[in-house]
Amino acid sequence: MKVKFFTPTREYQEKKSEFDNAVLGFMERGVSMLGKEVTDFEESVKEFTGAKYAIGVASGTDALVMASDILGFKEGKEVITSPFTFLASASCIAKNGAKPVFVDIEEETFGIDASKIEEKITKDTVGILPIHLFSQMSDMDKIMDIASRHKLRVLEDSAESFGMRWKGNGADYKHAGTIGDFGVFSFFPTKTLGAYGDAGMIVTNDENLANLAKMYRVHGASKKYHYDFIGYNSRLDAIQASILQVKIKYIKDAIKKRDHIAKLYMKRLQECEFIKIPKIIGNQESVYYAFNILADKRDELSEYLKANEIGTSIYYPIPLHLQKCFAYLGYKKGDFPIAEKTCESIIALPIYPEITEEEVEFVCQTIKEFYKK
Ligand SMILES: *Cc1c(COP(=O)(O)O)cnc(C)c1O
Repeated sequence: MKVKFFTPTREYQEKKSEFDNAVLGFMERGVSMLGKEVTDFEESVKEFTGAKYAIGVASGTDALVMASDILGFKEGKEVITSPFTFLASASCIAKNGAKPVFVDIEEETFGIDASKIEEKITKDTVGILPIHLFSQMSDMDKIMDIASRHKLRVLEDSAESFGMRWKGNGADYKHAGTIGDFGVFSFFPTKTLGAYGDAGMIVTNDENLANLAKMYRVHGASKKYHYDFIGYNSRLDAIQASILQVKIKYIKDAIKKRDHIAKLYMKRLQECEFIKIPKIIGNQESVYYAFNILADKRDELSEYLKANEIGTSIYYPIPLHLQKCFAYLGYKKGDFPIAEKTCESIIALPIYPEITEEEVEFVCQTIKEFYKK
């Protein structure tokens, strides 16, 4: 049996006529930049997440860079974030000359350890950039409390966390991305809400920040050919928006199916002594964008699964403080031991709404077989 790590083709076949109508219908109507297709999808995201404003942009990375620019993450200022994440969470800080300041992660959730943030705050610190990774949100109660006491801006990297909700000690569940000053989503094809190419979004509840984001995505223009800022050219593509508008209709069902698959993995793998399964911590509703395990002999396991035609992925093999591009920050091995240790044993198993139970059983059996040898 062959199990792909990710495939969009099953979903396409299931909803072929809807996708075809969306894309071909757009082409028949002609070209439109930031037209109805984009605004319709922005409305859908607002409705689903409860964000007051949603600004469609070209990718999650662009969303992070523009939001960082607007929040003043630049010119020698410092922003606190985690070294255990995708590059874009920290490159967006460095892009305009601010300095990423790393804090180690929590062992059980992989999220930033909020109890270690305050000791890193200096007179130059302007923001905190938490990342809601894989299946759960960072402790937003603690992060928002620190931010308000030290007057820091909060940019939520919600690229992986569409649909996750945090309650904490609050009265209601709040969607990832809607708690800080800005939140960003990525609609990269593998993400929980994935397009068929690059796409992203900035969300906020602040009218002023929303207006700035709208200007920044079209070269900083307040109206056509009137440039108030030096911005970017980063629009959400209308064809991707049309596809996403189809997919967001089914998002609750897709999240439910991911949850079912994750629970099946947990049930089948829990007795395996060579594997650790991450815990969801804090009062929140998780979404399984990825299903990770911490595995003994990870690299050999990964080779064994590959030989058995099972796709896996390693998020992330090298923590950001040890990447060449951040060597100038002066970090060294041993600075963030939990992040470093996690990079050595983590491995993501296939999870998507269309994966079958038989395929999941096969993945689990193959993993157990590997450890019996
Ligand atoms: C996917 C991802 C991004 C970047 O999104 P793109 O749309 O690929 O540019 C940023 N941060 C995290 C944590 C991600 O997983």
